[in-house]
Amino acid sequence: MTFKALLATKAGDAISANVVDFDENDLMPGDVTVAVEYSTVNYKDGMALTGFAPIIQTFPIIAGVDFSGIVETSTYPGLNAGDRVVANSWGLSQTHHGGYAQKARVSGDWLVKLPDNISTKDAMALGTAGYTAMLCVLALEHGGVTPDKGDILVTGANGGVGSVAIALLSGLGYRVVASTGRPQEADYLRELGAAEIIDRKVLSEPAKGPIGSERWAGVVDSVGSHTLVNALAQTKYRGVVAACGLAQGLDLPGTVLPFILRNVTLAGIDSVNAPQAVRLEAWKRLSTDLDFAKLARTVSTVGLADVAALAPKILKGEIQGRTVVDVN
Ligand code: NDP
Repeated sequence: MTFKALLATKAGDAISANVVDFDENDLMPGDVTVAVEYSTVNYKDGMALTGFAPIIQTFPIIAGVDFSGIVETSTYPGLNAGDRVVANSWGLSQTHHGGYAQKARVSGDWLVKLPDNISTKDAMALGTAGYTAMLCVLALEHGGVTPDKGDILVTGANGGVGSVAIALLSGLGYRVVASTGRPQEADYLRELGAAEIIDRKVLSEPAKGPIGSERWAGVVDSVGSHTLVNALAQTKYRGVVAACGLAQGLDLPGTVLPFILRNVTLAGIDSVNAPQAVRLEAWKRLSTDLDFAKLARTVSTVGLADVAALAPKILKGEIQGRTVVDVN
């Protein structure tokens, strides 16, 4: 029994990815086999397939850090044939065959049953980027940032995390300010729920001083580097900055003043090894809090054979919103 898969191989330093017929017997161990319906292209997939970061640790490997589909067979308690499931990150596309395939076999620990109102396609329209956006919103809430506290800054606004964060936050009643390098996409960002658009250059240049005037009650930052430093320096007293990304860079060239003068909280966000209870909460909240019509506006759909060409584009910030991969 074979199925179609996007297999990443390495020759010297060069990684290539090709659609192959993959033998089901060559899948890695796991107690649940899933008929995959959709996957997606995240920034991390871009890093994996280009080799920009050493995401893939075992070659050859089926790439793809996410998938959604229907359980085919299971010996895992609580998961049965026919269940609709989603998997985000864990070891997928790192040490374990991932989601760019028509079939996946994983530990049931890695799977979340989808809430009834989230289709397998919507699950990948969200993907790791969307679920991470929800983790960021949960961090703001955990830190006591309510809509009455003031504006929320979302950086990397046209990207996957940014787009979903805008839709989520505006739906929850927050006033969202979107920072972007693509001001020509202002209409798209406003449709998602942004109340104001700012040029990302204002934030991405080195800070003029260690602390700025207080502007943000909270921040969802997928950009890092100077952008994150400036966002911290402009965050209001007792505000919360949820940091999940490094699209500008992984450095943090700032000072401790926002923490010790303004009691600002820098909340780290990791989606890869997030405990199952956190994942369940995030997916439950996505099911109740997100306007799925808004999500649909962010989505374009491609096939397995299109993925490799998209990998360098997402790293260059040339992809807008979310890309769903229909593996069938
Ligand atoms: P996307 O590529 O979809 O979005 C990134 C956005 O960042 C771009 O669309 C662009 O937005 C902005 N951007 C790109 N380059 C720069 C730059 N040089 N300076 C400032 N802004 C820039 O990626 P995702 O949304 O999927 O992921 C965003 C980040 O979050 C990535 O770094 C990813 O690794 C990280 N991430 C982390 C997770 C975790 O578990 N911590 C999980 C998921 C993602 P615009 O054009 O609007 O300016």
